[in-house]
Amino acid sequence: MKKNILDLNYTELLTLLTENREKSYRASQIFSWIYEKGKFDFETMTNLSKSLRSFLKENFILEPLEIAEKRVSIDGTTKYLLKLEDNNYIESVIIPHPNRTTYCVSTQVGCPIGCRFCATGLAGFQRNLKAGEIVNQILTLRRDSGTKPNRIVYMGMGEPFLNYEEVIKSLEIITHPTGMKMSTRNITLSTVGIIPRIYDFAKVSGAYRLAISLHSAQQRKREKIIPVAKKYRLGDLKKALLRFQKEKGKRITIEYILLKGFNTSKEDALQLRNFLSGLKAFVNLIPYNPTPNDEFERPDNKEVEKFHQTLLELGINAEIRREKGTDIEAACGQLRRIKLYGVGGGI
Ligand code: SAH
Ligand code: SF4
Repeated sequence: MKKNILDLNYTELLTLLTENREKSYRASQIFSWIYEKGKFDFETMTNLSKSLRSFLKENFILEPLEIAEKRVSIDGTTKYLLKLEDNNYIESVIIPHPNRTTYCVSTQVGCPIGCRFCATGLAGFQRNLKAGEIVNQILTLRRDSGTKPNRIVYMGMGEPFLNYEEVIKSLEIITHPTGMKMSTRNITLSTVGIIPRIYDFAKVSGAYRLAISLHSAQQRKREKIIPVAKKYRLGDLKKALLRFQKEKGKRITIEYILLKGFNTSKEDALQLRNFLSGLKAFVNLIPYNPTPNDEFERPDNKEVEKFHQTLLELGINAEIRREKGTDIEAACGQLRRIKLYGVGGGI
């Protein structure tokens, strides 16, 4: 059976080639064709020998993901619905900024965590993505849009730390110096707080950024909206973040969804200050985006600004996240497999 060549990291490709009596520099050439030049056809890799090209064609698949649907928001945010080999769908987003382009990628089909405010979580879980499917989102978006990502955020569908090995492999591939050459400092992983993997990730070399989806600094409240918070408790999460920061020295992003009347009080702000003390952190306040679950409401601007102001007064570095793509449901937490549920339909 043919293998997907995008599932191989550099070392694996190198091993495979040298086992077939190819010179080791062939691995760099192939990485450059695929990840630097964006080629999807082995025949166009003209500096490879004819026999190597035939070998690759006979043994490997190299194809972009099928774009099932594409929506462009008035602010330029573009959401892609991509079809996988097994007919599952995932979503990836291009977010343009005045001087940079961010790609947001998925790591699972659906998500097993089931946060109560998240469209992805509400739609259930199908399976983990392979490393090749993660990197192929980037290749497919790049090819279709003609843009190049300056930043990549693992914030699409799924929990990256529940698919740790494939996620790490995808990072190895996209940062390799003979391929896409993404700088580790321009890559952010967002997690709901899978504590053992935070310790593991702290040991991975590279200046990767970490974002934590906190949403509440009160244990009981957090458990109500994030089921896995019962297992991975705030106190232990803080210890893990302190360790991560000690290893990496980087500021951690805290994501905090604002849910009307739920987590926006003075007490919530004070608890957040306690949680953050001793950490170098930056808080992103994200007003809740509507999902088919009507349990929560988006706070009005007054409530949002009041909470923001309270945080600033407490000396917390915080910003209200400027929204992108809400009109096409490409904003945070709105990613879901629209094909399965009907475009615009409820889950
Ligand atoms: N599973 C990871 C990464 C994907 S979620 C995580 O939870 O961090 C990406 C971000 O979207 C998270 O911060 C998540 O909390 C946020 N999000 C989910 N649902 C949302 C909603 N309805 N409104 C606003 N943000 C939401
Ligand atoms: Fe999964 Fe993140 Fe959504 Fe929670 S917020 S259900 S962890 S994707």
